[in-house]
Amino acid sequence: MENTSQETQSFQQNQDIGQGRGVYISTYGCQMNVNDTERMHSLLEMQNFTPVENPEDASLIIINSCSVREKPVHKVYSEVGTFRKMKDKNPNLKIGVGGCVGQQEKENLIKNQPMIDFVFGTDQIDNLPQMVAKAFEGERRQINAKFEHRAPYHIETMVRNPGVATFVNITKGCDNFCTFCVVPYTRGREKSRPLQHILTDIRHLVKRGVKEVTLLGQNVNSYKAEEGLDFADLLAKVATDTDIERIRYTTSHPKDFNQKLADTMAAHQDKIMEYVHLPFQSGNTRILDRMNRNYTREHYLEKIAMLKKTIPNLVLSTDIIVGFPGETEEEFRDTVTLVEEVGFETIFAFKYSPRPFTKAAKFEDQVDEDVKTERLNRLFDAHDKMAFDLVKRYEGQTMRVLVEQADREFGKIQGRSTSNKLVHFLGSADLIGKTVDVKITKAFPATFRGELV
Ligand code: SF4
Repeated sequence: MENTSQETQSFQQNQDIGQGRGVYISTYGCQMNVNDTERMHSLLEMQNFTPVENPEDASLIIINSCSVREKPVHKVYSEVGTFRKMKDKNPNLKIGVGGCVGQQEKENLIKNQPMIDFVFGTDQIDNLPQMVAKAFEGERRQINAKFEHRAPYHIETMVRNPGVATFVNITKGCDNFCTFCVVPYTRGREKSRPLQHILTDIRHLVKRGVKEVTLLGQNVNSYKAEEGLDFADLLAKVATDTDIERIRYTTSHPKDFNQKLADTMAAHQDKIMEYVHLPFQSGNTRILDRMNRNYTREHYLEKIAMLKKTIPNLVLSTDIIVGFPGETEEEFRDTVTLVEEVGFETIFAFKYSPRPFTKAAKFEDQVDEDVKTERLNRLFDAHDKMAFDLVKRYEGQTMRVLVEQADREFGKIQGRSTSNKLVHFLGSADLIGKTVDVKITKAFPATFRGELV
């Protein structure tokens, strides 16, 4: 009896801990982190914290960090420096670091940055309210970065204002261990959410006005439901068993992309959008092998040919790394020719940067920074030359656009075409959430301008 009343009292205190207090969350990195920040905000709102736009107005600051490349890690450390000065002036301010840097650095962060009150890992977001309560009760230097390897992945989407289009996590972590990538170390082993949970989640989002979902994971097409169903089965179920209007997904791995998945997309083209983001990383088979990507240049091109044959109007984008250790000039040129051969309208290209724990960081034949920069510039130049011509064909065409929000330019609205192009056009805000026909008047590789038909 006594225990129960103590627990109730502590729960009550826990719930009220945010009363009159503002929370500021600084977010870096991928869409997964953006979703995690939404989850943190939702959990903290249950403790009555108020989100604030300005760190100066906050009693609690959380950095949701990213360590996938070197640059965001440096930014996190520089932000920690800024917040330290704020804490010097206001010792009651609490500071926590989560996300991939929190997972990776754990004790180091607490040891080297004593003003940090708590550090938490990517598997510990749901324990954030307890950590925050303890921090406000005076507990310092908490570290909670355990991976819950055995715990099932049963989370429901927590988004405060989902809007018209939102992201739904379906897998977390990754088992692929590409030799350049830190994700398996910061996000842990791959886990899939139960299929029925995902369907229920999407039905709830539909009730809240969501028209489009993007199924999200580090490697979505290796999704496995307990019933032996795979990612193609999940896509088909979302298309047939929910009232969502549009379905997208990201990111997929070439080795797991098969005919069944392409056939499923083709069979449900009314709902599954004709756009695939399929990272190839390098156009050279020797480098792909060193990256542990488990496909060759030829295999990748075969998958692209299969996709284009099955879905003729398909639009593709990709991720590329230049200057991977040992990459020769000739091998880099294989990357450029692959971009040209596939005809990607959009590419996301980066210079290789060594990440902690990864195999490639220990490779001795690292490429000079100047060479990496020069190759990256040449790749972008080659892509620019073809991409503007490629998208010209859209000018004059009419596209189905889901209106997502008002544009920054007065009187304009914006939305996405079925092929994931951002389209800006004149229109009134009451069209938000509706799918309309827009005639494209000007096409750039990533954005279009148009007029309502
Ligand atoms: S597939 Fe490779 S690049 Fe993608 S998250 Fe997994 S290890 Fe990283």
